[in-house]
Amino acid sequence: MSHVTCIELIAFLDSYVDDELDAETRHSFDLHLLVCPSCRAYLATYRETIELVRGTAEQEEELAHDSPAELIEAMKRVKR
Ligand SMILES: [Zn+2]
Repeated sequence: MSHVTCIELIAFLDSYVDDELDAETRHSFDLHLLVCPSCRAYLATYRETIELVRGTAEQEEELAHDSPAELIEAMKRVKR
């Protein structure tokens, strides 16, 4: 697989981003991204979306960690 198409790249993009590809395939993807602005743009958007989803999941975990009672106590302490 020395030349990948846009369709192939997009089909394996999650594996590429997660670093699950073998070195040769990854290299082919890197080469394609060098010459294909539309795939670079797609990859950038894809990464942004992942960051966004991961960020949201972390925020939800933090909220779940703080029980409402603890939150109320913390607010009372701030007021004093
Ligand atoms: Zn492409």
